Order: sequence, then C-alpha cells, then structure tokens
Amino acid sequence: MIYLDNAATTKMLEEGADLYRHYACHSFFNPSAGYGEAGEIKKDLQSVRKTILKRLDVSEGDIIFTGGATESNNLAIMGSRRNGKTEYIFSVGGHPSVYNVAKELEKSGFNVHFVDLQKNGQIDYDKLEKLLNDKTRLISIEHVSNETGAINDLKRIVMIRDKFAPKALIHVDGVQSFCKIGLSLNKVKVDFYSMSAHKFHGPKGVGGLYVRNVNNLKSIVYGGGQEEGYRSGTENVGGIIAMGLAVEKTDLEYNLEYVKSLKAKMITILSKDKHVHINDFDGSPYILSVWFENVNGETLMRAVANKGVIVGTGSACSSKKAGNRVLENIGFNKDQIKSHLRISFCADLSLQDIEKAGEILIETYNDIKARVI
Ligand code: PMP
Repeated sequence: MIYLDNAATTKMLEEGADLYRHYACHSFFNPSAGYGEAGEIKKDLQSVRKTILKRLDVSEGDIIFTGGATESNNLAIMGSRRNGKTEYIFSVGGHPSVYNVAKELEKSGFNVHFVDLQKNGQIDYDKLEKLLNDKTRLISIEHVSNETGAINDLKRIVMIRDKFAPKALIHVDGVQSFCKIGLSLNKVKVDFYSMSAHKFHGPKGVGGLYVRNVNNLKSIVYGGGQEEGYRSGTENVGGIIAMGLAVEKTDLEYNLEYVKSLKAKMITILSKDKHVHINDFDGSPYILSVWFENVNGETLMRAVANKGVIVGTGSACSSKKAGNRVLENIGFNKDQIKSHLRISFCADLSLQDIEKAGEILIETYNDIKARVI
C-alpha cells in the first residue's frame, strides 16, 4: 500500500506503541496520586511539556494536554470567550473543530465575524484589518489549511493584531503545521496554539494546547482539577508520552526538504496530463491539492484504493458533507470541487512510491474518463 493521506492521520511510530504499552501495563500509576511512583509519572509528563515548548521555541507559557486538537480548539475558543460586548473573528478556512465552534458562539449570541479566503487560499488580511476593533476578544486562524495546504502568514496576523486590536488574543490551529513547518512562538507571539499527536506519528486521541498566559483561559471541563485546573480528567499518560517521543523523533528540517522533493515529483508526474490541474497554493510541502477534469474525485479515490494507493478527497471530517466550504470560498466551481483530491505526504515515503502512485493515479483517471465520456 502507498499511503498518501497523511493529513488525515499518520502511522504511529512502533517505538511509540511500545512506550505506550510500558506506561499502560507497567508504569500505570495515576499521575495525581501521592506516592513516589505516581510522582515519577508526573515528572515524565512535565518532560513532554518541555519537549513541546522547545519544539515551539517558546520560553513563556505552558502546554495543556487534551484529547486531541478538536478539544484543544474548543478549549482555546470557548475557554477564552468573555461576556459583554466582545467580538470573535474566524477564518472561513477553519477546520470544523473551529468553524463549528464559531457557529455555536454565534448561535449563543456572541458577535462573530468570518474572514474570507483569497485565491491563494490564505485569509484576506485587509478584511481582517477592517474587522478588528477594541472589542475584539479572539482571532482564530489555521496555520496550514487541512484542505489546501495554504499557509497563513502568522507574523503578518500578529502585526495586524498589534496595530488594530492590541488587546485581542490570537488562537492558531497548528494541527497541519506542528512538527512539519518551523515556527518560533518567541518570535510570533500568538496566545494559543493547538496540536494533535496523530498528525505527526503519535497516537490518536491525544493532543495539546499551548497557552501563553493562563489568565486568558477558563476551563470548559470541570472535575478533579488536573492540568492545573484547565482540563480535568486523568491524563492519557501513555498517549502523552508517545506524543513526546514523536516530537523528539521528528527531524523537521530534514523532513521538510525531503517531503518537498516528494511533492515536486508528484507535481511533475501529474502535470504531464493536461487535464489534471495542480492547485498551486504555494503552501505546505506536505499537502497537494489537485483536480481531475470530468471525473468524480470520490470515484477516482476508490478506484486507486483498489490498486493500493490511498489518497483523500479532503478533510476526513467534512468528506461526508455535500460541497466544500473552503474550496467554494476560494472560488472553485462545483465541477472542480467534485473532482478534487488531496494528496498528503510524510517522510516515510520513497520517490519510487511517488512515481508508482502518480502513474496509477493518471492511468486510473484515464480509464474512468474513457468510461464516463
Ligand atoms: N484541525 C485541523 C487543521 C485538522 O486537520 C484536524 C484533523 N483533521 C483537527 C483540527 C482535529 O484534530 P483531532 O483529530 O486531533 O481532533
């Protein structure tokens, strides 16, 4: 099998699974208990926090462990909302775990605004500027779009915030960028940053939220007061430890260069067919957005899966829904959206894998087209 749906999830490291087993079956103590064994586990969790903060290149703030990025996003948004005449700004390109929270805020009476996307998939920075004022409480933007791979310019967003709404907080959904694209939160001073372990070879159902200043946050889950009271519930110890290992094992610079060469190879192969269109958003090397003229993307996805090539039609979380909010907003027409595929990479793939998968995609596309037309 050649797996090219790494934006949906990645294969967990074998070493991470071994470590998980160790913490599940041997060092299984509850980190909140009072005896020494439990204290050791608590220290191990602290060490993962440090590993993540180091990867984010940030010397202030903390990491709150969560049950994945959907929860991290909910915590950042719902946990930072305040009553009164506060305003909230979201990108139309947000993952459902942000966009649907925005819709909930709106339904419950908060003043919510959405920023459209430009043709290159990034948010419209001018529109963002115009929406900001001294009532803006939160700006929530995805770093890398899970649909298109477009990269929003966080430095520019922070500059806009500093100029037009200095009191506003910035939340970044970093799920498709953490451990993939370099970022220094010492230099780019966002307030919250979400991550999810299963996108970088860690386990599913575990993630984190970086919080610069905890005074800006209130818990949305009440209970035993774990995670300094910001996320009650016994920590997923094995999952967190395996996430920490995945962070440590990521050679970000090397992977980034290598994955660039994989994406370039795939673009060269697919571009040979003039009916296959690369949506070059100049975005993340990890994500390639393509549309295949006159063929339904889902039909092509299933057909290549039968030949051992796994690609995606877009966000797994939205693939069952009709249409595609993100592509529509960028200006894709219905046919382009229907024939869209997302190909996403990881550093485990070889150039030969890409060559083989690219050829299978083209060959299968032409087979289907010959039958359809
Ligand atoms: N944000 C983005 C950009 C994502 O791609 C995903 C996963 N598809 C999520 C949030 C949700 O992450 P999780 O699966 O950990 O809940």
